[in-house]
Amino acid sequence: MSFVNGAVLVLSGPSGAGKSSLINKIKNDIGEYYFSISTTTRPMREGETDGVEYHFVSMEEFKKDMENDFFLEHALVHGNYYGTSIKPIRKALEEGKLILCDIDVQGNSAINNRLGDITTSVFISPPSLSELKSRLINRATDEKNVIDARLKMAKREIQRVSEYDFLIINDDFVEAADKLRQIALTARFKKSDDQINTFIQSWENLE
Ligand code: 5GP
Repeated sequence: MSFVNGAVLVLSGPSGAGKSSLINKIKNDIGEYYFSISTTTRPMREGETDGVEYHFVSMEEFKKDMENDFFLEHALVHGNYYGTSIKPIRKALEEGKLILCDIDVQGNSAINNRLGDITTSVFISPPSLSELKSRLINRATDEKNVIDARLKMAKREIQRVSEYDFLIINDDFVEAADKLRQIALTARFKKSDDQINTFIQSWENLE
């Protein structure tokens, strides 16, 4: 795929790491962006709205989208399917926007395979597993067995932090937001392979 001006910022990290709060904190400081709304088969949580946090669909609808190649990437996470739709991403990239994708480690790897030249990735981690546990308990959106599964998953995800460009440990919220803001602003400077080749070519054409 080749796009004109946009870039991608992948944000991963366990639920409860504070990704959404950090994005909210910096979103007015990073220029034109598009927050990728994933499609999922996960049941809607209290307080969520279809089309805001996710596009909530049935398993049948998701499979149809998969067959139609509508996803840039998709993955099974905690027993539910999640996917990033390709169409809005293509549009936002053509418009030169920074695309924010809150996706898991599998999604990061898939996006890096397809759009690695214009992608910057950040893993956001809570300071410790015990801190994550208390955040998930206090959030009170999940049953105990779901929380246990998320903690297990977090332990596994942490093993893959080295696949990311940056690790932000969300201990001090203001400091973490400041780091994310700087990374987001810098992420825009990434040039696509096409842009670099065109640039090199332009030098070859000089007398
Ligand atoms: P939650 O159910 O807590 O909203 O999200 C669970 C996990 O799914 C999170 O780690 C989140 O980053 C990941 N996720 C959300 N959307 C996508 C997606 O489109 N693709 C992938 N690979 N992961 C996603």
